[in-house]
Amino acid sequence: MGLINAPKFIVDHNVGKLAKWLRIMGYDTRFFNGTDDADLVATALAEGRVILTRDTQIMKRGVITSGRLKAILIQSDEPEQQMRQVIDRLNLDCQIRPFALCLECNQPLQERSKQQVEDLVPPYVFQTQSQYMECPACHRIYWRGTHWQAMTKRLKQFMEG
Ligand SMILES: [Zn+2]
Repeated sequence: MGLINAPKFIVDHNVGKLAKWLRIMGYDTRFFNGTDDADLVATALAEGRVILTRDTQIMKRGVITSGRLKAILIQSDEPEQQMRQVIDRLNLDCQIRPFALCLECNQPLQERSKQQVEDLVPPYVFQTQSQYMECPACHRIYWRGTHWQAMTKRLKQFMEG
């Protein structure tokens, strides 16, 4: 269910909130929680990921100034403004694909039948929802609920804002 020809990202810990928003839009996004900038840059190069960071030092590296590796220096403290900057800069479409990737670990989700999740979701969810996905890594179960609706609404708000 991944996006074809879409940018992939690596998000520095100083802009970590971007990871969930990009994943809910279906963009393959790795979260970097290491301390060594060299590791961040090496991973981005090896996996073809765009770096999102607030660290000006990273922007001065040769692979980035030469254009070999794409990086965006995030300007704002606010996650909404940060997302706007990324969307504007890369011309991302603003669609939400909440069943594509696990918001916590970036794994592609797998479809599950209602029967398979009966003992794994709250009874009121089981009664009202028919479509379920599971993360093969952390085994979270996803369904369309109020959490999605709230995130969808917020994303639309700051895209229009
Ligand atoms: Zn997961």
